[in-house]
Amino acid sequence: MSLTVSLRIDQPVVGCLGSGPRLLAKARYCADQGARVVWLGHDRLPDEAPASSECCPEPASDTVLSSDDFGLVLIDSGNAGRDERWLSQIATDVPIWMPGNHPRARVQFPATVQRGPLRVTVDTGGRWPTVANWLRQRLDTLLPEGLTDVLQAMLAKGDLNQVLDTPHQRRGFWYRLLDSPLVSRAHQMSADAINRELDTALRSAEGRGPRGEVFLIGAGPGDPDLLTLKALRVIAQADVVLYDRLVSREILSRVRADAEMIHVGKQRSRHTLPQEEINQRLVELAQEGRTVVRLKGGDPFIFGRGGEEIETLAEAGVPFQVVPGITAASGCSAYAGIPLTHRDYAQSVRFVTGHLKNDTCELPWRDFVQSNQTLVFYMGLVGLPIIARELMAHGMAPSMPVALVSKGTTPEQVVVTGTIDTIADRVAASEVKAPTLIIIGEVVSLRDKLDWIARS
Ligand code: SAH
Repeated sequence: MSLTVSLRIDQPVVGCLGSGPRLLAKARYCADQGARVVWLGHDRLPDEAPASSECCPEPASDTVLSSDDFGLVLIDSGNAGRDERWLSQIATDVPIWMPGNHPRARVQFPATVQRGPLRVTVDTGGRWPTVANWLRQRLDTLLPEGLTDVLQAMLAKGDLNQVLDTPHQRRGFWYRLLDSPLVSRAHQMSADAINRELDTALRSAEGRGPRGEVFLIGAGPGDPDLLTLKALRVIAQADVVLYDRLVSREILSRVRADAEMIHVGKQRSRHTLPQEEINQRLVELAQEGRTVVRLKGGDPFIFGRGGEEIETLAEAGVPFQVVPGITAASGCSAYAGIPLTHRDYAQSVRFVTGHLKNDTCELPWRDFVQSNQTLVFYMGLVGLPIIARELMAHGMAPSMPVALVSKGTTPEQVVVTGTIDTIADRVAASEVKAPTLIIIGEVVSLRDKLDWIARS
């Protein structure tokens, strides 16, 4: 078993035996962190050894090197006998790095990207150095150069807790700072200029009282890659998240780790919290000064009751923002290879709720039966036989193509296709699970041509 932990070294002296490139890279890393590097039994420094390093002679055969002498020893001389001889003279409490699986070697170096005092490490347990290196390069391009200078300057400011009292203020300060243009240009600025900007940012964070805010966020239909960048950024800062059943586990895992999570349900006929109570909770939580995220499946303004929630917030004077999401119709149609409009087949698309109140059919069926129009029914699984019957009764051709997409955009996506006169029976026979979306129109027939996912 291996754990990624950090090694505290009280005696910052690193012994090195060998001169291969793997060992040299590690020796340079240790020197960069401030260690004194000593070449064991070398009578001259290897080329490319860190400039500050020095040589030490072979010890007498009865000497044992202890953790008072070395905080860490790196061994890779290319000669197994020599490696063993040295090992036998190093006390067992000295941490040792060696390539391979030697039982004494208990230290591994993860791939590292460094920005001043910040170190981001990638650890594959030594299994896949190429994977680690690939990710290290990605991270390196992702982390702005100026981060080094900003963090160094912050280090000099001492304990932030002494300046900003509340966790809310500190979190707000860091997020605003890290998202600000300063981190991308600080490496081209003087230390004084950086300091001045940091002081301004600190003063402004100090002045900010706890001011709660609500973000109504669309989480998309399921695939976490369909979250917007703004949604990702905001859920990473949330103090409390109220989410419904439709929001997937993968998406919830992107929420800030110590945020309070409140499940507010929303299952057909089994609403866990009544809508009025959700609206009220949002107001109360924001009034406590917290950053509140209301996370909804798809888009908050499409069959999401987002309108009602912000109405209550507006009445209570609570600041809010709405972050749109990819609605189920867009997600499911794209992942099922069905364009909702098409120059030749559909010039309009209509989103309809199939949640039939008390099983009555009070929908403008006549308007739905128009040529060149795609119909998308949300919440239509239970009502499907009635929907199909009513559409045909109002003149839709029984051969009109229909697709039902279950758990669209997730790995469990299933698409059942048929025509308006066969779809209800096909769906009943298929035992598909909610949530499902029903797409009705000529465009469904394009699926055979366009669904590369199904064909690949
Ligand atoms: N605001 C959401 C819709 C909420 S109503 C949006 O914009 O998508 C809930 C309905 O959305 C479900 O009954 C179903 O019809 C549809 N739906 C949501 N996610 C879906 C998914 N992954 N696959 C199929 N249908 C989905």
